[in-house]
Amino acid sequence: MFVDKVRITVRAGNGGHGAVAFHREKYVASGGPDGGDGGHGGNIVLRVDDNLSTLMDFRYKRKYTAPNGQDGQGARCTGKRGEDLIIRVPRGTVVRDAQTNEVIKDMSDSQDYILCKGGRGGWGNKHFATPTRQVPRFAKSGLPGEEHEVILELKLLADVGLVGFPNVGKSTLLSVTSNARPKIANYHFTTLYPNLGVIYVEEGVSFVMADIPGIIEGAAEGAGLGHDFLRHIDRCRLIVHVVDVSGSEDRDPVEDFQRINRELKQYSPELAERPMIVAGNKIDLIPEDCDNLRRLREYVTEQGYEFYEISAATHAGTQNLIKVIAGKLAQLPPVVVYEPEYVKPLAQAGSAEDLKIDQFGDVWSVSGKWMEQLLGDINFEDYESRMYFDRQLRKSGLFDRLEELGIQEGDTVSIYDLEFTYEK
Ligand code: GDP
Ligand code: MG
Repeated sequence: MFVDKVRITVRAGNGGHGAVAFHREKYVASGGPDGGDGGHGGNIVLRVDDNLSTLMDFRYKRKYTAPNGQDGQGARCTGKRGEDLIIRVPRGTVVRDAQTNEVIKDMSDSQDYILCKGGRGGWGNKHFATPTRQVPRFAKSGLPGEEHEVILELKLLADVGLVGFPNVGKSTLLSVTSNARPKIANYHFTTLYPNLGVIYVEEGVSFVMADIPGIIEGAAEGAGLGHDFLRHIDRCRLIVHVVDVSGSEDRDPVEDFQRINRELKQYSPELAERPMIVAGNKIDLIPEDCDNLRRLREYVTEQGYEFYEISAATHAGTQNLIKVIAGKLAQLPPVVVYEPEYVKPLAQAGSAEDLKIDQFGDVWSVSGKWMEQLLGDINFEDYESRMYFDRQLRKSGLFDRLEELGIQEGDTVSIYDLEFTYEK
């Protein structure tokens, strides 16, 4: 079973909680606060693995959770951070948001990608000691890790896509020109997996060719196998349309050619416009310039395509075809990499009524679900982000509530790993 599209849920680890602890030493009457911070939660990281060629591993495992950070401890011990969870994917996996279907990331290069960030660890009470606040009895909880439901879709990275009816010799052509060893047999739908082969043309020149399972009429509407596989030629720079000219299956090569083209167009008009050349295969089975061959050549060239005669079995014309393909590729733009479209919607403030507010002398500690989410989204290095946070806090009515509770100018507002002085 070939799996090339799956929906999974990923969740980064939560940050550990900060510790409330006090330094204890013999002969020291009252030690200082020394509760350590919680560790950060583990990230969810995507990594390309070239040993993988399908998304099969995701078929039965749909949920991925990175470990949480450990809680902080006394003696200023920071909790251990949660390890990143590395998820391996085949090259060419496109990651989309499951709700909007927008592209989050195209895993085509070799860079790791952080799909979900782990929550920051909470501060231990060692942070809260000041000259006037000697005995802070509070610490902070960690922030939650990000969670996301995504679709992984494999779109092979190939320069050239072979298309054509089943049994026309696509797999054979790939096997005699490249390092790939696809299964070849004389019945339809032999190819159940797309095959990729690297073709060495000459020193420093090579390209990747993909042989995808046969496209049949109706595939674009979901009939048969072909439909699911068409996505693997989406990125191809050049299509090589293989036609069996021998008429060995009592089919008409011109009709075959038209049917496949119709199929491509139905699936994607854009794909139908992709540069294409035509290879008439199995010429070893027919007398020179037989009727079928002549008609196909005439039709194809009339339509503006270049036509090459080959025999994948005897290798006649295959080297020439490879040279022609390499020449075309040199003129074409590189393989498409999908640009990210998805922008994470920023968390919004809820109502101040839903927040927990604790007073410790002149320190006001604020916590709550929406505040966790909001803080997880804020980058305090970034001015815009800080302004956004400020607007959200005002909108929530937090400051009005603090006023009601009696906060004074100069008091400290403490929200998870954030502290600031209250000013009116
Ligand atoms: P695919 O379904 O398009 O991948 O076709 P295959 O490569 O599996 O080939 C189908 C059958 O046609 C196999 O039995 C091949 O041996 C045979 N075949 C492929 N190319 C040639 C050729 O050039 N000449 C001859 N005589 N047979 C071929
Ligand atoms: Mg095949």
